[in-house]
Amino acid sequence: ENNLPVHIVNTLPSDLEGTLLAKVDAQRRQAIANNHTATHLLHAALRQVLGTHVEQKGSLVTEYGLRFDFSHFQKMTAEELRAVEQNVNQRIRDNAILQESRHTPIAEARKMGAMALFGEKYGDDVRVIRFADSVELCGGCHTSSTGTIGHLRITSESSIAAGVRRIEAVTAQQADEYGYRQQDVLNALHQLFTNTPDIVSTIKKAIDDNATLRKQLENYVNEKALQLSRDLLNNAKDINGVKIVVHTGEVNPDIIKGIVPSMKGKFTDVKFAYIAATIYDGKPSLTLFLSKPLADAGMNAGNIVRNAAKHIQGGGGGQPQMATAGGKNPQGLDAAMQEIIDTITA
Ligand SMILES: [Zn+2]
Repeated sequence: ENNLPVHIVNTLPSDLEGTLLAKVDAQRRQAIANNHTATHLLHAALRQVLGTHVEQKGSLVTEYGLRFDFSHFQKMTAEELRAVEQNVNQRIRDNAILQESRHTPIAEARKMGAMALFGEKYGDDVRVIRFADSVELCGGCHTSSTGTIGHLRITSESSIAAGVRRIEAVTAQQADEYGYRQQDVLNALHQLFTNTPDIVSTIKKAIDDNATLRKQLENYVNEKALQLSRDLLNNAKDINGVKIVVHTGEVNPDIIKGIVPSMKGKFTDVKFAYIAATIYDGKPSLTLFLSKPLADAGMNAGNIVRNAAKHIQGGGGGQPQMATAGGKNPQGLDAAMQEIIDTITA
């Protein structure tokens, strides 16, 4: 601020006139210097790989990582990202020494090919930071040579505005830890698939097998539902002019879901009800389907099921023609069934 260094503190010292000692956390400072310097290398690498239309639009640096925003008009491909990462890591291995010239006249700095930053105001004298062929005007804190960065890993690439992309990356220990996390996932997968040599095809095959089995199961359930609905219809009862199909016992809910559509089309002009009071995995459930004539006569499946569900200590509801409920007390299923029959045949 006005050519004076500004220090930001959490609490003001009690004696503002006294002598103060400012200490730098060397490890944290080095991590920040590594990440900040890495933005210079990334900038240069992006311009080499993608082209000189790349310009820095912003950056955020902490001791934990870095963010770099730049102009570019499409999503970077995996190959481009790999090439940029390799380019930066080569610059790190080259161990380029920091060449810093303070108080360089701006015209001279431009002649050196220094890249000025977006919307930044510069004085007459500028600070030029050079690491090999990367030359920038910058007041940030840099590492003494690029080797201290260790290595860089790009963790994401995304769009933040029209024509502006964002790269997030980590360096040094953070890059190691990023690598370990990926290795841990891979190791866990290898263990799950008992050390198969080709984990990708093994997982692909498991996904394909799963889809095939799912399809087979679906066919089986549909077939079973059709067969069951034929048997149930053969045992339909007539009570007070209402045709009733009662379905009890241990039944997979998927099968009940398959039965309802097969009954729907059959009784469009008679009073018909399908009532399932079944158990699955120890849990009771109710399903009620009413034909249109019953619904037109004022019967509401949602209300009927909701009331009957009290017997099984459960709740549920649905539409005027179709409703379901689940509960906790299988002993109440008979009473629930009876209440439903009584209501629709009253
Ligand atoms: Zn810098």
